[in-house]
Amino acid sequence: MRLVLLGPPGAGKGTQARILREKFEIPQIASGDLLRAAVKEKTPLGREAQGFMDRGQLVPDELVLKMIAERIAQEDARIGFILDGFPRSVAQAEALAKMLGASGVALDKVIAVDVPDEELVKRISGRRTCTKCGAMYHVAFEPPKEAGLCDKCGGELYQREDDAEETVRERLKVYAATTRPLIEYYGRIGILAQIDGVGKPEDVERRLLAGLN
Ligand code: AMP
Repeated sequence: MRLVLLGPPGAGKGTQARILREKFEIPQIASGDLLRAAVKEKTPLGREAQGFMDRGQLVPDELVLKMIAERIAQEDARIGFILDGFPRSVAQAEALAKMLGASGVALDKVIAVDVPDEELVKRISGRRTCTKCGAMYHVAFEPPKEAGLCDKCGGELYQREDDAEETVRERLKVYAATTRPLIEYYGRIGILAQIDGVGKPEDVERRLLAGLN
């Protein structure tokens, strides 16, 4: 199964993608995670991408497309994948269709997760991630037992640089202008399901699975 999870930053794409990954045993490919790893390792890609990411802007297509093409060509993605954070524009969606078409495959479904802007800002500004294992918390909605430390591995929690409120607002603007048009694009192709992303993760999961069927 080849899926795309579409939605604004903070809509819960990462959480839902992890649930689907376990359920369908296909890899979750999160463009933001791949880019953050490249920044951390100071690879040529990471050095070029960092400034755009810090400003909440999109990393140029030529960098992102090459990164995604390499990732979906890997063995584990042959049976399927969940794309999270990619594509983020109609140009990227067209490039993806070409990439997949060259291997004789296509996307099966695109799930768009909808959450109102004010809720997104609240969710993102409280978001914290474990430096060691990547587990996610929220200072108000899902706090760790001990402030600043991961329940699972004891690692230190950090706030993503681009999760600061001003950058979040810029990311939401970029989403509305560049990424949201994908809802219409995939709607026209006929593989889109739109779901409400407000509520508990298990409620959103139920809607998502219903959308897949
Ligand atoms: P995310 O973790 O998906 O919110 O992505 C974090 C940042 O990485 C974004 O604000 C962009 O700067 C960059 N990024 C992630 N995915 C893409 C993409 N598909 N195209 C361009 N930039 C991206």
